[in-house]
Amino acid sequence: MPELKTTRPLFARPAWRYFLRAYQGMHRRLAFTALGSSAQVLLLVPMLLLVKYAFDTVIPQGGVRTLIVIGLGILLLRILHSLLALWMRHISIGIINTAILRIRQDLLDRLYALPRSFHTREDPRLLHARIVQDSERLTQLSNSLISKILPSGIISLALIVLLLVLNPWLTGCILALGPLIYWSNRRMGHRIQGKVFSFQRSFERFSQGMLFVLRYLDLTRSQSAEALEVERQRATLDRLRQETGDMAYSFALNAQLQELLSSLSGILIIILGGAAVALEWMSLGDFVAFYLAAGFLNRHVGFITSSLPEVVAGNESLITLHRLMDLPDELPYQGRSFPGFDGSIRMEGVVFGYGEEAVLRGVDLALRPGARVAVIGPNGAGKTTLIQLLLGYYRPWGGILKAGGHPYEGLDMVRLRRGIGLVAQNPSLFSGTVKENILYGNEAFEAEGLGGALEMAGLNECLGRLPHGLDTEIGEDGVRLSGGERQRIAMARALVRRPPLLILDEPTNHLDLTSVD
Ligand code: ADP
Repeated sequence: MPELKTTRPLFARPAWRYFLRAYQGMHRRLAFTALGSSAQVLLLVPMLLLVKYAFDTVIPQGGVRTLIVIGLGILLLRILHSLLALWMRHISIGIINTAILRIRQDLLDRLYALPRSFHTREDPRLLHARIVQDSERLTQLSNSLISKILPSGIISLALIVLLLVLNPWLTGCILALGPLIYWSNRRMGHRIQGKVFSFQRSFERFSQGMLFVLRYLDLTRSQSAEALEVERQRATLDRLRQETGDMAYSFALNAQLQELLSSLSGILIIILGGAAVALEWMSLGDFVAFYLAAGFLNRHVGFITSSLPEVVAGNESLITLHRLMDLPDELPYQGRSFPGFDGSIRMEGVVFGYGEEAVLRGVDLALRPGARVAVIGPNGAGKTTLIQLLLGYYRPWGGILKAGGHPYEGLDMVRLRRGIGLVAQNPSLFSGTVKENILYGNEAFEAEGLGGALEMAGLNECLGRLPHGLDTEIGEDGVRLSGGERQRIAMARALVRRPPLLILDEPTNHLDLTSVD
């Protein structure tokens, strides 16, 4: 049975493979942004040559006018550089949004592809928190990778080549800091990973808690449990405060460490390069041009290292979401055929249970077109379970189900269910109007079926009492309606498409005695 575990591996190659698949078909555009990033460095070359010329030739000669021209030239190159960066960003935003859209669509499809047993086991509030927050963290991960790490990585490599051309031995000296930067990033990466993991779990608990508070406000009030609930939520909030603080501090520590390391390279250049200028091994122009180029390198290495927290957080979210995506598809029936449905269903020797114990043992049932069948039994006897088997939500352990004489195994359940109207014990009503609730999934039947359905469900009288009739907003779960009105809306919804089979699960629970007939 599929299950969403919370433990995580350290290295999740399949999760990353899944992530990269979302970028399929966009490789050319990605390569173009890489090329554009390299072009940004090419624009730096004339800029540096102008600086060198200014220091080595123009300043010693006191050519103020030439200096102004050089300044304007540098400004023009800087503007071109920014325009190019903006263009590349525009392309990468398009790439990222498409990939995230694909992932979110996948997740949505996934929710319908997982069986009911999964949804009854998992806490929907936790699932909601994960899907919403983790997919947003994947957006940030993509932004870091495509808009920061990829261009800055390419620019840094190109800048290193440029620095090597400008002055190989000075470049060698600052590159010697590379292993130190790598090592500190690795150490910080591990530290941040732990903090991010704890923070994400705390945030999920917070989100779950708030959804609980909102969902069960009435229950909490009726049980006078406000103080208890506030206390419970306060513990969650306090934990979140602690975890958020720890994570933010480790981010700040990382940022400061990286800044310290990058200032080390600046200090090295000033000491070694300054000494070279003093000893006349290097011209002042070369030194300033080198210093500027190294400054650019520093900035881009800084972009990469400062993206580390987002990459780590995104990696954690990716692992969590990939677990959901990786669960085996276990819908009870995978059939594709649909020879039509006249409302007749047969159950033969059906055995089924949710755990070890069977709830239904050897059930035979025949539903014929036009017949009315009542299944009667005490609470917990398995009446709702029987309905869920009829709807194909579960597969029986033993026995067989047939619709119109065809075994469920081969049938397309989505199409079969279109022929079954269900009025559940606790009907699902969403925030919207009466009409929207009745026509949900039934839009195509509005003209021919709505009037008759309202009549049959005895809803017309109720509608007269509602302030805007069919257009009355009913609130989440139909909270602004009486139990009977809710039940009648569910009844009308089941009747609109005139299904050959109508199933009522204790439909008269909320109806007054005169309405039961
Ligand atoms: P009825 O509709 O006749 O009152 P149900 O079919 O709802 O009874 O439940 C039959 C038995 O199956 C009960 O003991 C109930 O606790 C159990 N049950 C129902 N749904 C689930 C589920 N999703 N997981 C585990 N047990 C369940």
